[in-house]
Amino acid sequence: MLTTICGFPRIGEKRELKFALEKYFRHEITFDELSDTASDIRKKNYNLMIENRIDLIPVGDFSLYDNLLDAAVLFNVIPQRYAAANLKPHEIYFSMARGRQENGVDLKALPMKKWFNTNYHYIEPEYDGSQSIKLNPWQIETLLNEAEELKINSKICIIGPFTLLKHIRCVNGTDPKQLIPQLTDAYIDLLNFISRYSAKWISFAEPSLVRDLTNDDKQIFTDIYRAVLKEKKGLKINLETYFGDIRDIYSEVINIDFDGVSLDFAEGKETAELIEKFGFPKDKLLTAGLICGKNIWRTCYDKVLNILLKLANNDQKLALGTSCSLLHVPLTTSCETRLGNDIKKHLAFACEKLGEIAELKQIVSAEEGFENILEANRKLFEAPRTAPNTEVQRLVENLTEKDFVRLPVRAERKRIQQNALKLPLFPTTTIGSFPQTGEVRNLRKQLRTGEISSEQYSESIKKFTADCISIQEELGLDVLVHGEFERNDMVEYFGENLDGFLFTENGWVQSYGSRCVKPPVIWSDISRRRPITVEMSRFAQSCTSKPVKGMLTGPVTILNWSFPRNDISNKTMILQLSLALKDEVRDLENAGIRIIQIDEAALKEKLPLRECDQVKDYLDFAIPSFRLLQSGLKPETQIHTHMCYSEFENIIPWIDAMDADVITFEASRSDFRILDALQSKHFETQIGPGVYDIHSPRVPATGEIVDALEKITAKADFTKVWINPDCGLKTRDWSETKASLKNMTQAALIMRKNTVCA
Ligand code: GLN
Ligand code: ZN
Repeated sequence: MLTTICGFPRIGEKRELKFALEKYFRHEITFDELSDTASDIRKKNYNLMIENRIDLIPVGDFSLYDNLLDAAVLFNVIPQRYAAANLKPHEIYFSMARGRQENGVDLKALPMKKWFNTNYHYIEPEYDGSQSIKLNPWQIETLLNEAEELKINSKICIIGPFTLLKHIRCVNGTDPKQLIPQLTDAYIDLLNFISRYSAKWISFAEPSLVRDLTNDDKQIFTDIYRAVLKEKKGLKINLETYFGDIRDIYSEVINIDFDGVSLDFAEGKETAELIEKFGFPKDKLLTAGLICGKNIWRTCYDKVLNILLKLANNDQKLALGTSCSLLHVPLTTSCETRLGNDIKKHLAFACEKLGEIAELKQIVSAEEGFENILEANRKLFEAPRTAPNTEVQRLVENLTEKDFVRLPVRAERKRIQQNALKLPLFPTTTIGSFPQTGEVRNLRKQLRTGEISSEQYSESIKKFTADCISIQEELGLDVLVHGEFERNDMVEYFGENLDGFLFTENGWVQSYGSRCVKPPVIWSDISRRRPITVEMSRFAQSCTSKPVKGMLTGPVTILNWSFPRNDISNKTMILQLSLALKDEVRDLENAGIRIIQIDEAALKEKLPLRECDQVKDYLDFAIPSFRLLQSGLKPETQIHTHMCYSEFENIIPWIDAMDADVITFEASRSDFRILDALQSKHFETQIGPGVYDIHSPRVPATGEIVDALEKITAKADFTKVWINPDCGLKTRDWSETKASLKNMTQAALIMRKNTVCA
């Protein structure tokens, strides 16, 4: 049995890549220096894999920003406006990723989207018909040369043509099908290019195969691969699938001339069944993704061995692998000094998962000491990890229909809230956070290291908050926020005040580009220990007569941005969270907070990829959990929600059914495409489609925002439109923020004037 993985975290043990990228963006280091850091990280990763006797080491899963962007650039899917800007290749690359406003060049970034059901974001490639699709190997060449020099036994990992095609946005009347012949040739050229190196295996990642496929999709997939696989150039080609099973195309796939196929046994509900039903060709390498690439829990070896044993029958060529890239878990538990061994023994991050693969290999080959390894693993699963909280479990069980209904209905509430709040037409607001400057972060550090007392900390935070309120008043915003200076992170902050969570010190996971998140771990049943945001909200509200939004993170987002338990259902965890937060919402209302925003930025993240599973496995409890939070509130209390970077076109009625009064969401970066869908589905909730992109340092001009608003009001009822940026402002600096918001409130004035005149 061979061993392999789909990919490995690339951010580095101390987040070296993040810091190097940020320095590079600030022009503090050169691209060559950035590349050196990247190379050091890769070398460390390769060594880890070698130490754990991984047979086929992924090369090419590494990226300076994003793999899909890498694939787009590798095949020259570069829109004209970037290509024509007279920039160096890496400057083009980063302009596509994050925009560029420099020396007369003013380029917006390409849209950013969530990658399948993960919290990883990819850059959405765009085809505008101007460029010829061809091999552009500047990045892959570096990786190949490096692997060659290191003499590692590599498996070259590249996003496959079908998945790439599925993620390219075609504009200017172009059609994805137009791209197929050129793209096919470009992939053949890539094989040619790689065949000059000593690598034997190349693995094409095709996660798009785990979605519902049409006949057309299947035809495209088979046509492209039939053509590409005719030109293997002596290489072995693996088809890598993950995030689910490939039930729609399995029988075709096993008859295509691949040399190996990687299948997901963790999220692939039907993977085992498919193999049983249709068989798997013995002469091809079957990589069984049995080590879950998404959770952080130790693997039960008996379960894995059972499946391996079945597969190993009849001399099947077999490899043990991960269900998906380990990119989605933190690097190692070895840097966690605060978690006791009783907890750590249940955790497996990327390095520990490599160790599990090594151990399983030892067991399978009956190497010396394998019985002890197996015995130690069995011990971990003998008893439940934690004791239950029976009170919380009882509350969840006793919920009834009416706990999930807020009365009066939304249209009635709108009238009541309008009377109470007296907001102007096109009310302006922001999403919650304001710049988290070095000063703010330093304060938190001083608290952590004990340099300042918690009283001193609170005083300083209040000072930041009061300043932030007066800045918002000066800018002329209508609905203010407190700025979230007390929050390190929108999930961790809540988790810290709830029972049932654990925190890591270094459990960073890449979210996009240089941004990482440190998801908390749900360890046991959840309950609220004490009020969380009430004091801060009350203080912020005391600084102004304008309404200040209370600011919470919703239950679904907390779950989706944490590492969930694998011993109880997501539904139970979400309901526990919702009940805990419901108390917080009520306390805010009692404290005189008139508008409460409950962020569900990650609502869609765990939506099953196949339509047939979406309602019963997810929406049926995720959406009601939001209603549970707000049932029983006064009609005057306005509930907002916020979502970002997910295409929710296909679940619009469900979003409406959350029964929020207002929703703000990301839209500017994807050119307000969502509005058509909202219009056609008669969306009822008031909307604040973000009028500018906060992930880019670019300051939008007033005219640009007015244009955006005109696009919005052409498709939406103007009495229901709010004006806001598309997400929180914490990653921006103050000067950009003030300039952008000034232009935004200016645009609101123009809109009000124009609308009244008309
Ligand atoms: N209220 C949060 C903020 O402004 C929302 C962040 C998010 O949507 N990711 O930072
Ligand atoms: Zn957001």
